[in-house]
Amino acid sequence: MIPFLRLTPDEDSQSVREAIDRVIGRGWFVLGPKLDAFETEFAAATGAPHAIGVGTGTDAIAIALRALGIGPGDEVITAPVSAAYSALAIMMAGARPVFADISAERLTIDPDAVAAAVTSRTAAILPVHLYGQPADMTALVRVAGRHSLAIVEDCCQAHLATCEGRPVGSFGAAAAYSFYPTKNLGALGDGGALTAAAADVADRARRLRNGGQSDKYHHAEFRVNSRLDEIQAAILRARLRFLPRWTARRRALAQAYRSALQSGPMITVPRECDPGHVYHLFPVLSPQRAVVQERLNAAGVETLIHYPIPIPRQPALAEVSPDQCPIADRVCAEVFSLPLYPALPAEAVAKVAEVLSTLAHRS
Ligand SMILES: *Cc1c(COP(=O)(O)O)cnc(C)c1O
Repeated sequence: MIPFLRLTPDEDSQSVREAIDRVIGRGWFVLGPKLDAFETEFAAATGAPHAIGVGTGTDAIAIALRALGIGPGDEVITAPVSAAYSALAIMMAGARPVFADISAERLTIDPDAVAAAVTSRTAAILPVHLYGQPADMTALVRVAGRHSLAIVEDCCQAHLATCEGRPVGSFGAAAAYSFYPTKNLGALGDGGALTAAAADVADRARRLRNGGQSDKYHHAEFRVNSRLDEIQAAILRARLRFLPRWTARRRALAQAYRSALQSGPMITVPRECDPGHVYHLFPVLSPQRAVVQERLNAAGVETLIHYPIPIPRQPALAEVSPDQCPIADRVCAEVFSLPLYPALPAEAVAKVAEVLSTLAHRS
């Protein structure tokens, strides 16, 4: 069996257990010294001036938008292929998501489609660095500059990724990260963080994650309670030290897939558009997805689909933003992900490639 994912702590097990024990011994569980330390270290790791720990990646996006003053009456342009949470977070902030189609080659938002979707109500662009591959930030920064739009980067799948050598999350006013257990940097539960370029945006976000509290007992505005707790912050600090090695391992496995797999009538392997890709996932496309997935499954190889439904076709959004995105429709019908995680042995890649090559010969 080759499972799609394994989430049990592995080489980090000892450090994670010690981190949890230290928090229990200290007896401080919310908004304490572990969170402060993690925020400092995560900001340094991502090249951002400020980091703010919150409850989830979804909250990180919503709070980032709010902290930038984006809310009711505003439109935010985003990608139709992503975890639906990207767009739901825009709605949580009170704004309306508008979908611009993706690039067929890069599978991230197409800057020309973004430019075409700008209206007088557009306040921001929310590009998603999907699967760990950076969106085309050079072009998106140009579109944002032309129309005076904010950029909030969804980095939930792209911890430590770079775009043309520059860290993702550093192109816009703010960026959002998820530490959901499956992400490249995962907690043992929910967690998230936003990063901000400006100190006043960071300060506002710190208030917004804490019920809108401005100082003890004073609430200038009402907002959610969404804080990264001390145990998760301590676990994330311990794991952050492993992240560069895990990222290198993901890249090595991806290159192994690339040399073992050939695009053909049954399978297309998307091109690596930037070497800063961190391979949260390894997606491939097939016009006969169900057949290929079934064949892999019969050989003991688990696969999953990221994502089967374009976000504007979700019932929760169909009325808000019924945008037409034909490339997203095709990608969602054909894409599926092969197993890829740091503990995956190299032999597993060879096995997957072997199953796929027999398929190609039979078709
Ligand atoms: C995981 C994810 C989110 C949501 O993060 P949560 O921590 O689950 O709320 C948002 N956007 C993308 C691209 C994601 O992968």
